[in-house]
Amino acid sequence: MAKLIPAKHLLLIGIVCAFLAIVFFAFPTGASKDTQNMSLTITPQVIKEAELSLFESGSSSLNNVKTQVISNQATHNSLPYLIDKGGENDQLNNSNTKPSTSSFTANPSPKFTIEKHSVQIKEGDSLSKVLSSYQVSANDIYKVSSADKKQKSLLRMRPGQHLEFAIEQPSGSLKHIKLVLNRLQSIDFKRKNDQFERGETNRTPDISQTYKEAVINNSLFVDGMNANIDQPLLIELANIFGWDIDFALDIRKGDRFSLLYEEKFLDGEKIANGKILAAQFINNGRTFQAIRYETNKGANYYTPDGLAMRKAFIRTPVDFTRISSKFNPNRLHPIFKTSRPHRGVDYAAASGTPVKAAGDGKVSFAGKQRGYGNVVIINHGKGYQTLYAHLRGFARGMRKGKKVKQGNIIAYVGQTGWATGPHLHYEFRVNGVHKNPVTVKLPNDDPMPKADLKKYLPYAQGVVAALTNSNSAEFSQRLALLKD
Ligand SMILES: [Zn+2]
Repeated sequence: MAKLIPAKHLLLIGIVCAFLAIVFFAFPTGASKDTQNMSLTITPQVIKEAELSLFESGSSSLNNVKTQVISNQATHNSLPYLIDKGGENDQLNNSNTKPSTSSFTANPSPKFTIEKHSVQIKEGDSLSKVLSSYQVSANDIYKVSSADKKQKSLLRMRPGQHLEFAIEQPSGSLKHIKLVLNRLQSIDFKRKNDQFERGETNRTPDISQTYKEAVINNSLFVDGMNANIDQPLLIELANIFGWDIDFALDIRKGDRFSLLYEEKFLDGEKIANGKILAAQFINNGRTFQAIRYETNKGANYYTPDGLAMRKAFIRTPVDFTRISSKFNPNRLHPIFKTSRPHRGVDYAAASGTPVKAAGDGKVSFAGKQRGYGNVVIINHGKGYQTLYAHLRGFARGMRKGKKVKQGNIIAYVGQTGWATGPHLHYEFRVNGVHKNPVTVKLPNDDPMPKADLKKYLPYAQGVVAALTNSNSAEFSQRLALLKD
């Protein structure tokens, strides 16, 4: 009979016998019926598949057989582990002679350690990319992602943020992971019952109000920064007063400004600047005060009387290099040498410089008009009209009836029509009368609704009082002089 069976098969039968022997020896005498049944029912399949693999590969190595057996048993919990432990043949035999307990304890004296990691997210990083580089299993990554399915915070992590996580060793199991969004916010996932529970931490910074003031000798930025006012605050300040003060042309030595703003602290350490609550500017003999106030339309700056600081029009609708021709009702025309009033301002700028709508409105003309060349006229309502001429071309979709918002690009500087060089000819008309665009009093933006104004006025009074109390003696003196 032995001759009828190929040597390979004999070898295999030998292994299976050894395997069965282990099962019987290793299990205590009182092993449950279930376990025995299991090992018996599985055996035929083991032989079958092991045979197959031997014929296919032509390999006779023991290791291959072993591997195959293990993978075929993978659906069963305890057997693969047993086989894995007793890998080689002689080891299997050894385990036969040993008391059963040692070969059966998964971890004789498990020593768990927790490894902690903190990783700064780089461009192109993803949760799975970071975690898998620390050998976190795909299964754990999947479980964490599932716990975050709704909010997708982990999907949205950005370069610079930190990912902190704890891995239990030697199991490699992910225990805890935390995405630190910023100093105030973090999101974390804790392992509980083999699932991850999502949690959020939101810290509130302590907010204090700070008052600062500065005298201008050089410029807003140089002197502001010398007075320890951060640049972003100065930029914001320039935006608040930019409707009334041209920071390139209007600033005079001896101008002063002050601001009341929020500073945010965490654990006693300053982490950021907050909002500018109020500011004042003394410019070339004029004074301006602005107070931040929030209505359901959003936050804006208002005068103490409740007028918007923002105006309905931008003073200059183009970034220009110089004014090449002023508004002059009695000018001699440079080409015709005849008395022809110059009813607008010429802003010299490079050809192609964007031209912005000075205010919200509707285009009433966009096309060619004799001396103007390419021209856009916008109706702003309430009798206001602006005109932009000598344009090289128009912005897309610029045609009669098109609605535009303040600051929208409507066209580009050129020298079409009667022009000696690239510039924007800009006209400002009020009820059909040409006004000097550089000096015309610009109307304020839409006023605050009456209901808001009622609440605003007492608030503004309080803020003005706070500013007055903070002003230095010099600042107060200057203000008093200007008021007289
Ligand atoms: Zn002109």
